[in-house]
Amino acid sequence: MSGDVVLTHGRVATMQGALIDDGAVVITGDRITWVGSSGDRPSAASSGGSANVIDLEGRLVTPGLVDCHTHIVFGGDRVDEFERRLAGESYDAIHRSGGGIASTVAATRRATDDELLATAADRARQLKAHGATTIEIKSGYGLDVETELRMLRIARQVEQIAGLRVHVTFLGAHTVPAEFRDEPDRYVDLVCDDMLPAVAREGLADSVDAFCDTIAFDRGQTERILRRAKDLGLPVRVHADQLSAIGGAELAASLGALSADHLEHASRVGLRAMADAGVVAVLIPGPSLIDADAPRPNVSVMRDVGVRMAVATDANPGTSPLLSLPLAMTVACTRFGLTVDEAWQGATTNAAAALGSAGGVIAPGVPADLAIWNATRPAEVIYWMGADLCDRVVIGGVVQ
Ligand SMILES: [Zn+2]
Repeated sequence: MSGDVVLTHGRVATMQGALIDDGAVVITGDRITWVGSSGDRPSAASSGGSANVIDLEGRLVTPGLVDCHTHIVFGGDRVDEFERRLAGESYDAIHRSGGGIASTVAATRRATDDELLATAADRARQLKAHGATTIEIKSGYGLDVETELRMLRIARQVEQIAGLRVHVTFLGAHTVPAEFRDEPDRYVDLVCDDMLPAVAREGLADSVDAFCDTIAFDRGQTERILRRAKDLGLPVRVHADQLSAIGGAELAASLGALSADHLEHASRVGLRAMADAGVVAVLIPGPSLIDADAPRPNVSVMRDVGVRMAVATDANPGTSPLLSLPLAMTVACTRFGLTVDEAWQGATTNAAAALGSAGGVIAPGVPADLAIWNATRPAEVIYWMGADLCDRVVIGGVVQ
């Protein structure tokens, strides 16, 4: 291994205290080994090798962004549907003509592995170009054993092809497929008895998610799926209380989930239980860009009860075709009322926690995943809406 990588003369936002105005970060191998003022950095000679010193010329350096909720593996797209909605057609009419999630499920089942991988990797590269060094990818558009497992394998391959870290989540319980519409419990049986054991046996997923809502799985069905996942040794998360308050937040707390996501209708009691259980609240601002009337989570109650808040793109072909986490941070601030600090914590430290990781900070001992920005302070990245300010990223000590 060659010598250290030293980033000097940057503005370093460690996510653990004040911005370091003229800061340096020393990387040895794949880890951060030192962070502080440029003038105080240990001499390169002490590393025993020739250090690669990179002068950041005053640029901002932050932890690499963590997008902890995406659905970027899918076949087809919903561009036509988007256009029809903008032209005034109703959701109902679009659904009756085979649109919505059912069309994505059909297109995903039809797509080849190569098609699914190429399109997912392109989307991952977009997220990375906007500063993400870790992303989560869910299955959930297969809804049969074969296609769900195929989606998970493809999500895992995105890591190599797009060159960033991927946390894979099994979301077989995304919605009840058409062929089980009259017998949803039989689909829950399939998830619990066939899909989950295969996922665990083959190590295909890092966590398991389920959509707990009136249009998806009720609280009892969700609990059955997620308890089975836990019995198989897999951490869990929940799409919770998005369309109505059916106790998803409370369920996430009682299961000790890593995260509960959406939460637009979550109760104060549920959010407090999440705070007590250490469950991260993942906020999803993307739908607010499509629909000005989209419900918003109650951030002031979240703050009040002390639940940790993360921000994610929820990149998906229907409600949130959003491939920039900084833009999601902007909308979380402007529409949901987060402060700049909360949005940054939400896309770094708290998002990492939602994936069960202690990363998302710049500190000795942590994997060297960083984003370098053509900006001088964190607020600027949120202020320039939709801009491409990411200069480059560092992943596992490799400057890209
Ligand atoms: Zn989602």
